[in-house]
Amino acid sequence: MRVSTGSASQSDSRMVTVVVEAFGIGRQRQAERRFTVPFPQLQSTMQTIARQGGRITAVEVAGALSATATDAPAASPAPAPAAAPSKPAAVSHAAVPVNLYKPKDPFLGTVTENYSLLAEGAIGRVNHITFDLAGGDPQLHYVEGQSIGIIPDGTDANGKPHKLRLYSIASTRHGDNMADHTVSLCVRQLQYEKDGETINGVCSTFLCDIEPGAKVKITGPVGKEMLLPEDEEANVIMLATGTGIAPMRAYLRRMFEPSEREKNGWNFRGKAWLIMGVPTTANLLYDADFEHYQSQFPDNFRYTKAISREQKNAKGGRMYIQDRVLENAEEIFTMIEDSRTHVYMCGLRGMEPGIDEAMTAAASAKGIDWSELRPQLKKADRWHVETY
Ligand code: FAD
Repeated sequence: MRVSTGSASQSDSRMVTVVVEAFGIGRQRQAERRFTVPFPQLQSTMQTIARQGGRITAVEVAGALSATATDAPAASPAPAPAAAPSKPAAVSHAAVPVNLYKPKDPFLGTVTENYSLLAEGAIGRVNHITFDLAGGDPQLHYVEGQSIGIIPDGTDANGKPHKLRLYSIASTRHGDNMADHTVSLCVRQLQYEKDGETINGVCSTFLCDIEPGAKVKITGPVGKEMLLPEDEEANVIMLATGTGIAPMRAYLRRMFEPSEREKNGWNFRGKAWLIMGVPTTANLLYDADFEHYQSQFPDNFRYTKAISREQKNAKGGRMYIQDRVLENAEEIFTMIEDSRTHVYMCGLRGMEPGIDEAMTAAASAKGIDWSELRPQLKKADRWHVETY
């Protein structure tokens, strides 16, 4: 076997792709598979493949063919690194606007609309709120996946001005009206019981109650965790609960909304899959838009709902988002094996353990150790989480 990896060292952060031929047995036999791993894992990956009988035909370093190999034993079942990640083309983080407006000198946006997103009989209160950002110097602009800060009017219990609260942006950079100077949020009013009294969250109540025309202190934008890849052929798996749908709405508008596609020139051709968790059908957010995208782009968009109080999981219990992940484990992990696939998770922090458990079970069914794969995906910028 000839392997030339140039000046690469153990601290090398480049990715290497190992090309394996005649992999698998019987009907499972595949002509070629590619395992992309960080350079320091090259040796152990090659050993695993060889141990399991794979025939390595080439090793590509940082996109260039730098090594080839022709000797190898016969094929056998797939090894664990099958889903190992590689670094895909991501949005240029340096070009992403951050903190154009800070809490000491926030931008004053004007509310243009504020309406309920919920249907009759829904639990709680969730509103779509849009602000006009025109007239700032600098102009407050953002990209999909970022958040803005809102400083509610009034003072706290100590008489001090309220601190800012972050909200994921639910619109694309062009805004819902495509005028390039609005931002929209999807806000759930926080309400909980304490000592027999209903407590309303300060900022979420301020936002849900606000009237068009009102001025609101806005900071940001912030965040680079949830940016979309630039690659038009990327695959995007979205796991959202409740208002965690906000960034996903922005992604899906950018991908499938006709006026957006015309303006943004981003010809998304990959596969997008939204798995959305809510308590009742009436709590689904932007549902008609997503159904429409699915009917218009059936080859590119799939929309799966987990409606916990109405649907049952395989064990007869409530259907949560993690149950949908388990049900679709095979397809999800087949997608993750593709180095162009990104996974985005957003919603309440409580969703994380359930998803992690489901991913662990789903991965192990494919012989993959999720606790090893997840940090690799994260390092490769393909596992994106924003929970609160
Ligand atoms: P507050 O008045 O600040 O009350 C919150 C406090 O109440 C908590 O800190 C806790 O001390 C207490 N509390 C809360 N629940 C209970 C309970 N059950 N029992 C006892 N005490 C309790 N929210 C959205 O609606 N939409 C979004 O898109 C969104 N995006 C976010 C993005 C990011 C990156 C982050 C960090 C948060 C996001 N949030 C979002 C949450 C948002 O920032 C606020 O935290 C939320 O609106 C509550 O703020 P509030 O001022 O209404 O509540």
